[in-house]
Amino acid sequence: SEPRSFTYVGNPARVIFGPGTIARLPDEVDRLEAKRAMILSTPAQQDEAERLAALLGPRAVGIFPGAAMHTPVDISDYATDRARSLKADVVIAIGGGSTTGLGKAIALRTDLPQIVLPTTYAGSEMTPILGETSNGQKRTQSSPRILPEVVIYDVELTLGLPAGLSGTSGLNAIAHAVEALYARDSNPVIDALAVEAIGALAGALPAIAADPQSLAARSKALYGAWLCGVCLGSVGMALHHKLCHTLGGSFDLPHSETHTIVLPHALAYNAPAIPGAMEKLARVLGPDPATALFRIGRAVGAPAGLKDLGMPEGGIDRAADLALSNPYWNPRPLERPALRDLIARAWDGAEPL
Ligand code: NAD
Repeated sequence: SEPRSFTYVGNPARVIFGPGTIARLPDEVDRLEAKRAMILSTPAQQDEAERLAALLGPRAVGIFPGAAMHTPVDISDYATDRARSLKADVVIAIGGGSTTGLGKAIALRTDLPQIVLPTTYAGSEMTPILGETSNGQKRTQSSPRILPEVVIYDVELTLGLPAGLSGTSGLNAIAHAVEALYARDSNPVIDALAVEAIGALAGALPAIAADPQSLAARSKALYGAWLCGVCLGSVGMALHHKLCHTLGGSFDLPHSETHTIVLPHALAYNAPAIPGAMEKLARVLGPDPATALFRIGRAVGAPAGLKDLGMPEGGIDRAADLALSNPYWNPRPLERPALRDLIARAWDGAEPL
């Protein structure tokens, strides 16, 4: 193949992976020379935050179980005040992308170091990116301060992730790796990670649907999700992520389900423009990667169409208009009739073309 020029930038992070690695948390706090940890979770995962506090003993100075979807600025400001009044010298986030987002928001405001213990496959812990909302508007920014310093992937923490959310969260992760393969700033290191990650998740997700307590399948999925997070944090995303952002924001659709439904159609749209990426995907997904992704969605019991998430049929044209109103780079130019057809198929739950 022809010689390729590229720029590769690595995001520095210390990663600890394996079953039971939660026990390493006190050592990691010591390693950062921290003595006053503030622990974050959602209300639903407060028990897990308390478990970390018990593990840390007097080094845990406070728990804030108030993380919420879309990282609302008022919650981040309030939690930052708490961190300052507690004189916290490290923030520890246990949970999914929402809780990681809160830790990142506090770190952006204070430059405190972060330790993250992910419990979903969202991958936010590997990125220097933060999306915050205020007055219904989402603003995304990137900064080295946002990138967590230490990530502990304890696969046992993911055993309780409900089967349905496991499937859609995993397909959301796959979407990061798929778009990384055709990113404008792609490079061979990220390509290799993306192919490895998609292969791991494509095998693990149906196995988790069949047996959510399988430690082997859970471990493979978390490994894949980690690498997908690296992809997301390293190169730019295109049509799929922009479209999901528009659909989610305009019709109040759930994050990982929307990604799961749109991905096969967005890939089918781009396929004619990305022969190299399709060849790499075929190695791990078989000869028809878009249909293979659609089938994984069915195997994990995810909703097939945006109509099942409550999007009105009249929204199809509006979504197409919105997607075209704010142009961005994509390997295949945005063409209204084909784009509308993509959205219509995703709405209906049809197989990708
Ligand atoms: P989430 O963090 O909102 O979690 C969903 C719900 O599941 C929460 O109530 C949570 O407490 C619960 N939960 C999480 N793990 C669990 C477990 N193991 N067992 C039982 N319940 C569990 O969802 P998410 O999909 O992880 O994250 C989505 C958010 O993350 C979105 O807001 C998205 O924009 C953001 N995100 C950001 C980035 C980034 O790089 N900035 C990357 C990916 C996602």
